[in-house]
Amino acid sequence: MTHVSYSEIKIWHECPFKHKLQYKDKLNGFLGNLHTAFGTAIHSVCEHGLLDENLDREAHFLEQFEKEIGSLNEKEVDIDEKLRSQMMGQYAPIVSSFKDELENYFGDFEVVETEEALYEDIEGHDTKFKGFIDLVVKTPDGRYHILDWKTCSWGWNARKKADKIINYQLTLYKFFWAKKHNIPLEMVETHFGLLKRTAKKNNTEIFRVTSGPKKVKNALTFLEKAVINITRNVSIKNRLSCKNCAFYKTEHCP
Ligand code: SF4
Repeated sequence: MTHVSYSEIKIWHECPFKHKLQYKDKLNGFLGNLHTAFGTAIHSVCEHGLLDENLDREAHFLEQFEKEIGSLNEKEVDIDEKLRSQMMGQYAPIVSSFKDELENYFGDFEVVETEEALYEDIEGHDTKFKGFIDLVVKTPDGRYHILDWKTCSWGWNARKKADKIINYQLTLYKFFWAKKHNIPLEMVETHFGLLKRTAKKNNTEIFRVTSGPKKVKNALTFLEKAVINITRNVSIKNRLSCKNCAFYKTEHCP
Protein backbone atom coordinates (compact mmCIF):
# COMPACT_ATOMS: atom_id res chain seq x y z
CA MET A 1 0.00 0.00 0.00
CA THR A 2 1.74 3.16 -1.17
CA HIS A 3 -0.66 5.61 0.42
CA VAL A 4 -3.81 5.88 2.46
CA SER A 5 -6.37 8.67 2.78
CA TYR A 6 -8.72 9.62 5.57
CA SER A 7 -11.71 8.41 3.49
CA GLU A 8 -10.04 5.05 3.08
CA ILE A 9 -9.38 4.53 6.78
CA LYS A 10 -12.92 5.71 7.57
CA ILE A 11 -14.28 3.02 5.27
CA TRP A 12 -11.97 0.46 6.84
CA HIS A 13 -13.29 1.51 10.26
CA GLU A 14 -16.90 1.11 9.06
CA CYS A 15 -16.29 -2.36 7.66
CA PRO A 16 -12.93 -3.95 6.77
CA PHE A 17 -14.69 -6.16 4.21
CA LYS A 18 -16.17 -3.12 2.48
CA HIS A 19 -12.68 -1.67 2.36
CA LYS A 20 -11.41 -4.83 0.70
CA LEU A 21 -14.19 -4.73 -1.92
CA GLN A 22 -13.61 -1.09 -2.69
CA TYR A 23 -9.85 -0.66 -2.44
CA LYS A 24 -8.40 -4.11 -3.11
CA ASP A 25 -10.97 -5.65 -5.47
CA LYS A 26 -11.54 -2.18 -7.01
CA LEU A 27 -15.31 -2.55 -7.08
CA ASN A 28 -17.31 0.63 -7.42
CA GLY A 29 -19.84 0.26 -4.66
CA PHE A 30 -20.98 3.85 -4.71
CA LEU A 31 -20.95 5.74 -8.00
CA GLY A 32 -22.09 9.09 -6.63
CA ASN A 33 -25.51 10.72 -6.61
CA LEU A 34 -27.10 14.16 -6.76
CA HIS A 35 -25.89 14.96 -3.24
CA THR A 36 -22.25 14.32 -4.16
CA ALA A 37 -22.73 16.26 -7.44
CA PHE A 38 -24.14 19.21 -5.49
CA GLY A 39 -21.32 18.99 -2.92
CA THR A 40 -18.60 18.88 -5.57
CA ALA A 41 -20.04 21.91 -7.38
CA ILE A 42 -20.35 23.90 -4.13
CA HIS A 43 -16.78 22.96 -3.14
CA SER A 44 -15.56 24.24 -6.47
CA VAL A 45 -17.29 27.60 -5.86
CA CYS A 46 -15.69 27.81 -2.39
CA GLU A 47 -12.27 27.11 -3.84
CA HIS A 48 -12.38 29.36 -6.90
CA GLY A 49 -14.56 32.05 -5.32
CA LEU A 50 -11.88 32.75 -2.72
CA LEU A 51 -9.12 33.01 -5.30
CA ASP A 52 -11.03 35.09 -7.83
CA GLU A 53 -12.93 38.15 -6.57
CA ASN A 54 -14.67 38.50 -9.93
CA LEU A 55 -15.90 34.93 -10.23
CA ASP A 56 -19.61 34.71 -11.06
CA ARG A 57 -20.27 32.21 -8.28
CA GLU A 58 -23.78 31.25 -9.35
CA ALA A 59 -22.72 30.66 -12.97
CA HIS A 60 -19.71 28.64 -11.76
CA PHE A 61 -21.95 26.47 -9.59
CA LEU A 62 -24.37 25.80 -12.46
CA GLU A 63 -21.54 24.90 -14.82
CA GLN A 64 -19.95 22.49 -12.32
CA PHE A 65 -23.28 20.96 -11.28
CA GLU A 66 -24.16 20.21 -14.91
CA LYS A 67 -20.71 18.70 -15.40
CA GLU A 68 -21.18 16.42 -12.37
CA ILE A 69 -24.65 15.39 -13.53
CA GLY A 70 -23.19 14.58 -16.95
CA SER A 71 -20.68 12.33 -15.23
CA LEU A 72 -23.48 10.57 -13.28
CA ASN A 73 -25.37 10.05 -16.55
CA GLU A 74 -22.29 8.46 -18.08
CA LYS A 75 -22.16 6.05 -15.13
CA GLU A 76 -25.89 5.38 -15.64
CA VAL A 77 -26.81 6.61 -12.16
CA ASP A 78 -30.55 7.38 -11.85
CA ILE A 79 -31.21 11.09 -11.40
CA ASP A 80 -34.08 12.12 -9.16
CA GLU A 81 -35.48 15.04 -11.17
CA LYS A 82 -37.56 16.33 -8.26
CA LEU A 83 -34.48 16.57 -6.03
CA ARG A 84 -32.49 18.11 -8.86
CA SER A 85 -35.07 20.85 -9.27
CA GLN A 86 -35.12 21.44 -5.48
CA MET A 87 -31.33 21.79 -5.54
CA MET A 88 -31.61 24.42 -8.25
CA GLY A 89 -33.42 26.55 -5.69
CA GLN A 90 -30.98 25.82 -2.85
CA TYR A 91 -27.48 26.69 -4.01
CA ALA A 92 -27.77 30.50 -4.18
CA PRO A 93 -27.85 31.24 -0.40
CA ILE A 94 -24.74 29.09 0.09
CA VAL A 95 -22.64 30.58 -2.68
CA SER A 96 -23.60 34.08 -1.61
CA SER A 97 -22.92 33.54 2.12
CA PHE A 98 -19.75 31.49 2.50
CA LYS A 99 -17.29 34.34 1.95
CA ASP A 100 -19.07 36.72 4.30
CA GLU A 101 -19.25 34.01 6.92
CA LEU A 102 -15.50 33.40 6.67
CA GLU A 103 -14.97 37.12 7.31
CA ASN A 104 -17.43 37.15 10.22
CA TYR A 105 -15.76 34.12 11.75
CA PHE A 106 -12.06 34.82 11.27
CA GLY A 107 -12.17 38.60 11.02
CA ASP A 108 -9.01 39.66 9.28
CA PHE A 109 -7.37 36.72 7.51
CA GLU A 110 -5.27 35.81 4.53
CA VAL A 111 -5.82 32.78 2.35
CA VAL A 112 -2.72 30.60 2.55
CA GLU A 113 -3.92 27.81 0.27
CA THR A 114 -7.03 26.18 -1.18
CA GLU A 115 -7.20 22.50 -2.12
CA GLU A 116 -3.74 21.84 -0.73
CA ALA A 117 -2.45 18.34 -1.43
CA LEU A 118 -0.81 16.32 1.34
CA TYR A 119 1.40 13.32 0.66
CA GLU A 120 3.41 12.75 3.80
CA ASP A 121 5.28 9.80 5.33
CA ILE A 122 3.53 7.91 8.09
CA GLU A 123 6.31 7.27 10.58
CA GLY A 124 7.31 3.63 10.88
CA HIS A 125 5.39 2.52 7.76
CA ASP A 126 6.08 2.40 4.02
CA THR A 127 2.83 4.22 3.43
CA LYS A 128 2.09 7.90 2.90
CA PHE A 129 -0.86 9.85 4.17
CA LYS A 130 -2.69 11.42 1.24
CA GLY A 131 -5.25 14.19 1.51
CA PHE A 132 -6.57 17.45 0.16
CA ILE A 133 -7.21 20.33 2.52
CA ASP A 134 -10.05 22.56 1.37
CA LEU A 135 -8.74 25.77 2.91
CA VAL A 136 -5.86 27.08 5.03
CA VAL A 137 -6.00 30.66 6.31
CA LYS A 138 -3.72 32.68 8.54
CA THR A 139 -4.96 35.21 11.10
CA PRO A 140 -3.00 38.26 12.33
CA ASP A 141 -2.04 36.45 15.58
CA GLY A 142 0.18 34.19 13.45
CA ARG A 143 -2.08 31.15 13.77
CA TYR A 144 -2.98 28.91 10.88
CA HIS A 145 -6.49 27.52 10.45
CA ILE A 146 -7.35 24.38 8.54
CA LEU A 147 -10.95 24.23 7.33
CA ASP A 148 -12.87 21.44 5.67
CA TRP A 149 -16.14 22.31 3.91
CA LYS A 150 -19.03 19.87 4.34
CA THR A 151 -22.24 20.16 2.36
CA CYS A 152 -25.27 18.92 4.26
CA SER A 153 -29.03 19.43 4.44
CA TRP A 154 -30.13 21.36 7.56
CA GLY A 155 -26.87 21.02 9.53
CA TRP A 156 -25.20 18.67 12.02
CA ASN A 157 -26.49 17.84 15.49
CA ALA A 158 -24.22 18.09 18.55
CA ARG A 159 -23.47 14.37 18.45
CA LYS A 160 -22.19 14.52 14.89
CA LYS A 161 -20.16 17.64 15.61
CA ALA A 162 -18.44 15.81 18.47
CA ASP A 163 -17.99 12.49 16.63
CA LYS A 164 -14.34 11.57 17.16
CA ILE A 165 -13.97 9.63 13.91
CA ILE A 166 -15.35 12.56 11.89
CA ASN A 167 -13.08 14.93 13.82
CA TYR A 168 -10.00 12.78 13.15
CA GLN A 169 -10.04 13.96 9.54
CA LEU A 170 -9.15 17.48 10.68
CA THR A 171 -6.77 16.23 13.34
CA LEU A 172 -4.80 14.19 10.79
CA TYR A 173 -4.80 17.07 8.33
CA LYS A 174 -3.43 19.31 11.06
CA PHE A 175 -0.68 16.88 12.02
CA PHE A 176 0.52 16.21 8.48
CA TRP A 177 0.12 19.81 7.30
CA ALA A 178 2.17 21.08 10.27
CA LYS A 179 4.79 18.40 9.54
CA LYS A 180 4.94 19.34 5.85
CA HIS A 181 5.49 23.02 6.63
CA ASN A 182 7.51 22.54 9.81
CA ILE A 183 5.07 24.61 11.84
CA PRO A 184 4.47 23.89 15.57
CA LEU A 185 1.22 22.02 16.14
CA GLU A 186 0.05 24.55 18.71
CA MET A 187 -0.01 27.21 15.98
CA VAL A 188 -2.59 25.29 13.95
CA GLU A 189 -6.33 25.19 14.63
CA THR A 190 -9.04 23.18 12.90
CA HIS A 191 -12.59 23.96 11.77
CA PHE A 192 -15.47 22.54 9.81
CA GLY A 193 -17.54 24.77 7.54
CA LEU A 194 -21.08 23.48 7.05
CA LEU A 195 -22.75 24.53 3.80
CA LYS A 196 -26.42 23.93 4.42
CA ARG A 197 -28.69 23.19 1.52
CA THR A 198 -32.11 23.23 3.18
CA ALA A 199 -31.56 25.67 6.07
CA LYS A 200 -33.87 28.68 6.02
CA LYS A 201 -31.08 31.00 7.26
CA ASN A 202 -27.39 30.88 8.23
CA ASN A 203 -26.59 28.68 5.25
CA THR A 204 -22.90 28.69 6.15
CA GLU A 205 -21.87 27.69 9.67
CA ILE A 206 -18.23 27.50 10.68
CA PHE A 207 -17.21 25.96 13.98
CA ARG A 208 -13.96 25.08 15.66
CA VAL A 209 -13.00 21.51 16.40
CA THR A 210 -10.45 20.97 19.14
CA SER A 211 -7.34 19.07 18.08
CA GLY A 212 -5.00 19.16 21.06
CA PRO A 213 -2.10 16.78 21.78
CA LYS A 214 -4.30 13.96 23.14
CA LYS A 215 -6.56 14.01 20.09
CA VAL A 216 -3.57 14.08 17.76
CA LYS A 217 -2.16 11.02 19.55
CA ASN A 218 -5.49 9.19 19.32
CA ALA A 219 -5.95 10.08 15.64
CA LEU A 220 -2.46 8.78 14.83
CA THR A 221 -3.21 5.55 16.72
CA PHE A 222 -6.43 5.20 14.70
CA LEU A 223 -4.47 5.74 11.48
CA GLU A 224 -1.73 3.30 12.47
CA LYS A 225 -4.19 0.58 13.45
CA ALA A 226 -5.90 0.91 10.07
CA VAL A 227 -2.60 0.81 8.15
CA ILE A 228 -1.41 -2.29 10.03
CA ASN A 229 -4.67 -4.18 9.50
CA ILE A 230 -5.01 -3.17 5.85
CA THR A 231 -1.43 -4.30 5.23
CA ARG A 232 -2.20 -7.63 6.93
CA ASN A 233 -5.29 -8.04 4.72
CA VAL A 234 -7.64 -8.20 7.68
CA SER A 235 -11.10 -8.00 6.06
CA ILE A 236 -13.75 -9.12 8.50
CA LYS A 237 -17.38 -8.08 7.95
CA ASN A 238 -18.95 -5.52 10.23
CA ARG A 239 -22.66 -6.22 9.89
CA LEU A 240 -23.48 -3.17 12.00
CA SER A 241 -22.56 -0.99 9.02
CA CYS A 242 -24.67 -2.75 6.37
CA LYS A 243 -27.60 -0.33 6.45
CA ASN A 244 -26.05 2.31 4.23
CA CYS A 245 -23.63 0.10 2.33
CA ALA A 246 -23.89 -0.05 -1.48
CA PHE A 247 -22.74 -3.69 -1.40
CA TYR A 248 -25.53 -4.82 0.94
CA LYS A 249 -27.38 -7.85 -0.47
CA THR A 250 -25.44 -7.74 -3.72
CA GLU A 251 -23.45 -10.59 -5.20
CA HIS A 252 -20.39 -9.14 -3.45
CA CYS A 253 -21.88 -9.28 0.03
CA PRO A 254 -25.10 -11.31 0.09
S1 SF4 B 1 -22.85 -5.11 3.30
FE1 SF4 B 1 -22.17 -4.97 5.43
S2 SF4 B 1 -20.66 -6.60 5.70
FE2 SF4 B 1 -20.96 -6.31 3.50
S3 SF4 B 1 -19.38 -4.89 2.91
FE3 SF4 B 1 -21.17 -3.67 3.36
S4 SF4 B 1 -20.98 -3.10 5.49
FE4 SF4 B 1 -19.56 -4.78 5.13
